[in-house]
Amino acid sequence: MKKLFILLFIVSVSGACRKAPATVQAETKPVQVPAFNSDSAYAYVKAQVDFGPRVPNTAEHKKCAVYLADKLRAFGAAVTEQRATLKAFDGTKLDAVNIIGVYNPDAQRRVLLFAHWDSRPWCDQDADPANHKKPVLGANDGASGVGVLLEMARQFNARKPDVGVDIIFFDAEDYGAPEGVPGNTEDSWCLGTQYWCASPHVPGYQARYGILLDMVGAPGATFYKEQISMYYAPNIVEKVWSVAQKLGFGNYFVNEQGGGVTDDHVYVNKLLQIPSIDIIHYNSNSGHGFGDYWHTVNDNMDNIDKNTLYAVGTTLLNVVYSE
Ligand SMILES: [Zn+2]
Repeated sequence: MKKLFILLFIVSVSGACRKAPATVQAETKPVQVPAFNSDSAYAYVKAQVDFGPRVPNTAEHKKCAVYLADKLRAFGAAVTEQRATLKAFDGTKLDAVNIIGVYNPDAQRRVLLFAHWDSRPWCDQDADPANHKKPVLGANDGASGVGVLLEMARQFNARKPDVGVDIIFFDAEDYGAPEGVPGNTEDSWCLGTQYWCASPHVPGYQARYGILLDMVGAPGATFYKEQISMYYAPNIVEKVWSVAQKLGFGNYFVNEQGGGVTDDHVYVNKLLQIPSIDIIHYNSNSGHGFGDYWHTVNDNMDNIDKNTLYAVGTTLLNVVYSE
């Protein structure tokens, strides 16, 4: 990702007619929720980073795709590798693959969990212009969300949740045009998601809601209620934040609204009308609103903290098993 912005029109619409309901459907049923193992999640993040940057059309990207699909299969998911040639803003043809893992395929009630697995080709936010043409390692921007979802997949295999769960690792999210470069439109991002929304792995695919994880591993990360999520899916935001707070993770899941972000959930909301939210590190002290590592050479394993992975993974396991 992407660009952070303040959506004034959405704020006003939201205030007028899309207000979050007063009652929150986040009552946790007395269910047994498996324990999220942050050592495993950390290892899955590191395994991706160890391939090197996962930029489309590179050998590292191809190798990591095999790793991710194999992992989901090993964790008992029915796996679809959705391949596509996607056209980037500059005309480059990207050899892309969305990796989809399905649990309880016949269940009508479904939950969609997603993250992007590619990493950005350019460190265009780095303080040193000499780094602007280098690829991002993407420990947090990409690998962290995927690592949390892989650990959740391991738990789904050990004890099947009641609902159907679809995990999607989207490709080519972070190939958006650098600022000031021709073609820098919102739609130059999230190419894998746009493709899947136009041709989902199941025709007419629907889920009750979707949750996107993006940059969920930084030490002391703060997740604010993102504006597009609040516009399309305020009750899902409230559900997740309320579960997090009950579990004692209120220092991560801050009970305040943040900015709006162009990210994969935008298309799932707009094109498939599946109410979807984005859990993303928002830092009001940085100029761009993200962590200082964002789109720089510093997005490495130093920015991954097991405590943050644990807070996110534990919250989401509680949400899914209470469904
Ligand atoms: Zn990014």
